[in-house]
Amino acid sequence: MRAFCVGGGPVAENPKDWDVATKLIRGGIARSQFMETAEALYLTQGFTYDSAEGADRRFAGEDPGFVYSRFNNPTVKMFEDRLALLEGAEVCRAQATGMASIHAALMGLVRAGDHVVAGRALFGSCRWIVSEWLPRFGVETTFVDATDPKAWEAAMRPNTKAVLVETPSNPVLEITDIRAVSELAHAVGAKVIVDNVFATPIFQKPLELGADVVVYSATKHIDGQGRVLGGAILTSEAINEEFYRDSLRHTGPSLSPFNAWVMLKGLETLDLRVRRQADSAFALANTIAEHKKVQTVLYPFRPDHPGHNVAKAQMTGGGTVIALDLGSREAAFKFLNALEIVDISNNLGDAKSMATHPPTTTHRSVPEAERPSLGVTEGGVRLSVGLESVEDLKRDVIRALDQA
Ligand SMILES: *Cc1c(COP(=O)(O)O)cnc(C)c1O
Repeated sequence: MRAFCVGGGPVAENPKDWDVATKLIRGGIARSQFMETAEALYLTQGFTYDSAEGADRRFAGEDPGFVYSRFNNPTVKMFEDRLALLEGAEVCRAQATGMASIHAALMGLVRAGDHVVAGRALFGSCRWIVSEWLPRFGVETTFVDATDPKAWEAAMRPNTKAVLVETPSNPVLEITDIRAVSELAHAVGAKVIVDNVFATPIFQKPLELGADVVVYSATKHIDGQGRVLGGAILTSEAINEEFYRDSLRHTGPSLSPFNAWVMLKGLETLDLRVRRQADSAFALANTIAEHKKVQTVLYPFRPDHPGHNVAKAQMTGGGTVIALDLGSREAAFKFLNALEIVDISNNLGDAKSMATHPPTTTHRSVPEAERPSLGVTEGGVRLSVGLESVEDLKRDVIRALDQA
């Protein structure tokens, strides 16, 4: 016998037992009374009640259902439920962008007088929130070399309330040992947030490694086809209740139902896309490494990557991004300009391969003097590998390297 959801359609009994591919196609589906095949798009701001008493019960939380799309919406909830199932999290909360998610995840955990520790090599906007924004509200912050557990240990204080880890990091794919950092953070009572964008929910499960909160820019692999922005926070019921429920409700970084609907369709093919992209990225990294113009190639599953052992222990795939260094800005620009298939673009995780020069684009806001310590070098190029034929990509990249 099947259970039935509020809208009328049947809901799955034990979706947690499904394999990933099934979760991605069927997780979170709540069919309406019309029993549509595809997920319905509920493009509505609000909801109506059959009586004043009904509204009273709905607002009191005694009757399940929706009250306002800033709090939740049936299409957004399907997206949240599907992603929570994939991640193995009790709760998923969706936001309008990845940055709204990172911001809400951090702000919900801290108040004036608290302290935050973060890896120094972060996505540019995440770094800005930690270095510029949090201190405005009396939150102290410390950056550490995220590859060094001793540096994390030394930075922890009694008032450390949140730790932000990005692994692999942007742009040079530094690897942080999530389990080790989680133990150090928990010893001082801090919560661990992992920005899991580069690893994707397919290749890394931070909650199983001890993290408390996982954050995604769903703009990247989850949409994966360059259409909409989105983000998500995944955590436990208890953390959501204590730190996020009210702050999200009252500050309103909500995901649009339309974007949630696009992302639901993105999730259906996430496993297929990301595995193919990672296979191509690995092959392409190995090809690039042979080229004489290339000084370094970084890909987490190559044995010469400095974080290779940790990456192998906590990830089941190396990801879809490669970092390479051509020695100078001139060479990097020549390489980018010579690419014919790969686009010059700062996005990543897309079906289309894209390359960017971090110091002049994504990491422009990092002060020049600090860039080398983040691995942001003048000759650096970040290459996000898409779904094109890997043979075509190899030819395009090799030809562009010849001209660099
Ligand atoms: C893109 C990205 C973000 C920000 O996501 P948006 O959806 O662009 O706001 C945060 N962290 C990482 C690692 C990213 O790559």
